[in-house]
Amino acid sequence: QQAGFSAGVAATVKDHQGVSSLSAPKVKLFVGGEAIESQATESVDVVNPATQEVLCRVPLTTSEEFEAAVKTAKEAYATWRNTPVTTRQRIMLKLQELIRRDMEKLALSVTLEQGKTIGDARGDVFRGLEVVEQACGMANQQMGEFVENVSSGIDTYSIRQPLGVCAGICPFNFPAMIPLWMFPMAVTCGNTFILKPSEKDPGAAMLLAELATEAGLPPGVLNIVHGTHKVVNDICDHPDIRAISFVGSDVAGMHIYSRASATGKRVQCNMGAKNHAVVMPDADPEATLNALVGAAFGAAGQRCMAISTAVFVGDSKSWEEGLKSRASKLKVTAGTEPGADLGPVISKQAKERICSLVESGAANGARLVLDGRGIKVPGYEHGNFVGPTILADVTQDMECYKQEIFGPVLLCMEASSLQEAIQLVNSNKYGNGTAIFTRSGAAARTFQHEIDAGQVGINIPIPVPLPFFSFTGSRASFAGDLNFYGKAGVHFFTQIKTVTSQWKDKDLQGVAMAFPTSQ
Ligand code: NAD
Repeated sequence: QQAGFSAGVAATVKDHQGVSSLSAPKVKLFVGGEAIESQATESVDVVNPATQEVLCRVPLTTSEEFEAAVKTAKEAYATWRNTPVTTRQRIMLKLQELIRRDMEKLALSVTLEQGKTIGDARGDVFRGLEVVEQACGMANQQMGEFVENVSSGIDTYSIRQPLGVCAGICPFNFPAMIPLWMFPMAVTCGNTFILKPSEKDPGAAMLLAELATEAGLPPGVLNIVHGTHKVVNDICDHPDIRAISFVGSDVAGMHIYSRASATGKRVQCNMGAKNHAVVMPDADPEATLNALVGAAFGAAGQRCMAISTAVFVGDSKSWEEGLKSRASKLKVTAGTEPGADLGPVISKQAKERICSLVESGAANGARLVLDGRGIKVPGYEHGNFVGPTILADVTQDMECYKQEIFGPVLLCMEASSLQEAIQLVNSNKYGNGTAIFTRSGAAARTFQHEIDAGQVGINIPIPVPLPFFSFTGSRASFAGDLNFYGKAGVHFFTQIKTVTSQWKDKDLQGVAMAFPTSQ
């Protein structure tokens, strides 16, 4: 049963030549606590982006298999919803221990399938692990409210109950963290779950399901199906699925939001971004330059909270040399190589898209301060590498500014004042994250108050909140109402029932025909 369960991890980094697609193992479905061979005849290759080696194949789950997964989750819900919250918490307590135990295995799976460096992959796992830790305190977070004597002898209280079967649809860029944003909160609230990992890197999710089972999660509580558009549409349409968490691109997110909410589901969608860093002239040069380079080029820019645009208040030129010298020193190679700073981008198509957006910027008047498009990486000649790239004199009408590039490209812009910089950021459609670099408390306070983005860093380049807060992207970066994890996450995965109760020995009132009011 274990064979092919964690297929991506089994492959080694040494084989750069690749294997033929059909001999690569097929990733299993995970239904009812067991890894199951899919009967699907169609599959998608999972490709190591540094080598083009086909690591495994993701089956396109058939309609019957999907139906069986939902049925299993629905059946498991009947028991799971009645399992004490303390028991559910203890399973999470064990799960966080097992994730720590298998950190290296999980990180290697992420690096092989997604491409990021091993150090960065550990961060991917760790930021998800923190959500599991948060779920260990679910009893506190799921508490209801109680008001005694809302009317004479009458009390009202509210209880937060699970919804039923919930589902999660994941992107490629955080193969461990994002599944962990979703299922630990959902199942600890008492729901059962159907997870659809990215078809590009399902390995970490499969390992996590294995660990959740080892931690004691009963069969059917967490299930994994694989595929692309069709299975996503099946999730949107299924009448027994009550809520969907989605993280990914705008196109998929808005499609899922409208299709699934039309069937009455609760939906939360975290989508694309264009995160600006506003750099004030008084900012600490060393700290700011280091922060910008790390946040722009780390993970090859494939983070929804990457800093992709720097807005320099005053002159950008005085900063360019510092950016260029730091960025040029970064080591671009396979994420498994010692000392790697950034790995490849996810696919050949992603690389082409990134390069063509850089090209269109340059053709429309942007200045190439650093061009990483032609990079050659010894030993990994077939990898999808793009070196750190810096475009200056970028303006708002340029395609490279309007679109999310999602690659190791930093755009530099200028503003004549803090107010002008704030206006620029606020007129961008996205509202995921932003940061200001300054030594002025007054400038930071003005920025924090007036900026229209959901997550603000003050001298912090990637302000992703820890899970006792929520991930609060806004405007075009988010659709829905309740955000991921934290209090909002618990609210997303629960529904409120409000009970009004009265206990009395004798009825003194008789028949009351008027609408009851507080007495
Ligand atoms: P993607 O939208 O291509 O894929 C995400 C998921 O949706 C996958 O599971 C995929 O199978 C499915 N999917 C894709 N297109 C679909 C369609 N047309 N219909 C139905 N299902 C579809 O996203 P990606 O390329 O994997 O991830 C990168 C994107 O995710 C970037 O835009 C990035 O900003 C965003 N992202 C956002 C956050 C956030 O928290 N805001 C976090 C991580 C990534």
